[in-house]
This record gives sequence, C-alpha cells and structure tokens, in this order.
Amino acid sequence: MRRIWVVSFRRRNGVILGIALGLIMTIAIGLGFSGQDAKIWSWIVGNRVIVIDAGHGGVDPGAVGIGNVLEKDVTLAVSKRLQALVQQGGAKTIMVRDDDTDLGTSVGLLKRKREDLAQRIQLAKDAQAEVYISIHANSYPNPKLTGAQTFYHSDSPESKLLAQSIQQELNALTNGKRVAKGNQDIYVLKKAHQAAVTVELGFLTNAEEEQLLTTPEYQEKLAMAIYQGLSVHFSKP
Ligand SMILES: [Zn+2]
Repeated sequence: MRRIWVVSFRRRNGVILGIALGLIMTIAIGLGFSGQDAKIWSWIVGNRVIVIDAGHGGVDPGAVGIGNVLEKDVTLAVSKRLQALVQQGGAKTIMVRDDDTDLGTSVGLLKRKREDLAQRIQLAKDAQAEVYISIHANSYPNPKLTGAQTFYHSDSPESKLLAQSIQQELNALTNGKRVAKGNQDIYVLKKAHQAAVTVELGFLTNAEEEQLLTTPEYQEKLAMAIYQGLSVHFSKP
C-alpha cells in the first residue's frame, strides 16, 4: 500500500514539476525575444566562449581618421566595453589584446602583420571559442560615407546569421540601412575555426562620425548593440 502511494505521489510531483518548468521556459523565451535589457540576455550567452578581436594595435594603427583618430584606439575601447557586457552575461571572453600591442614579433612590418593575424586565429582555436568577433573602423575616400557594417565569410551560414543579427541592432542604433555583407577576402573571416564576424564600427574618414567614435557614450552604445546582436543570435534555435 505504502509503496503504491509513493509511486503515485512521485508521478504526480513529476507532472507538476514538468508543467512548472514548461511555464518558466515559455515566460523566459517570451521575455528573451522581446526585451532590450542586457540582463534578460544573460541566460542565453552564459557559458559560451567568445573571442573579441580589437583590430590592429601596437605598430599597426589601422586607419587614421581625418582628425587623426587612430582605428586601433577606437577598436580597443569598444572591445573592452563589449568584454564587460559579455562577461556580465556570464560568458567567457578571450581578448586578442587588451592594450596597445600587436601579436607579431618580426621587424619587417608585412611579415609582422601576417604573424599578428595568424596568432589571433590560433588564440581563438586554442580557446575552442564558439564565436569570433573582430572589431574595426572603416575609412573611405568619400568623406560622406557613414554607418556601421558587419561582414562574414560567404561560405559560413552561421557567420552570416550572426552578422545579420548584429547588423540589425547596429541599424537600430544608428538609424542605418546597411546590410551584412559576404566577403571572401578578409583574412580572419577566412581562417577562423568558428562563426566569425567583422564589425566596422563607422567611418573615420567622416569628421562627424570620427568624433562620435571617440566618445565613451557612443562606444558603449556600439558595444551594447553588438552584445544584443550576439544574444539575439544565440536565442534562436
Ligand atoms: Zn581595420
């Protein structure tokens, strides 16, 4: 008698537990898809390994803006802010660099650049990272061009989805209409062993945007947009 009672009690508890879990999941998914608060995304990015590659550094300044802002400084500032957000979300971040250095060792600049890029890829591979986010800032002869844009390798559907997700958030921030663009020639996108995206934060050749890219407020907004794009991407089945 006692034994039968225990079995039926356990079964009833299991059913109740199942219903409760189902309800919690439904609410969480509902919140996750509609919310804009970074905290809501925490449970989605948690436990993942994300590589954040602050483009250029050290001997390589990257693009130089018309007001002499250096790409390497902007990419590092935004990367650090992105790192803080991703870490708050519970994920592990691997920073390719967290100061003004490059990863090359040779004296010759061309060889050094090649070493630098290869090291970045190796770092991500060794960390068994799930995602590689490369942060850059653009330059172009026409000073009127502005806006943030993402790139992915055309042969990687996963990278494309991630790039589109980040682009959507960047467009929402900047009122932009740019689309994520496939590319076969960007070295890190070609060589990465995981889903990889390059984010061009904006144009250093546009005086207004160059200035904007140096402000902590805008850098934080860009980092938040990238983080949200990442979280929305992970929330999709
Ligand atoms: Zn660059």
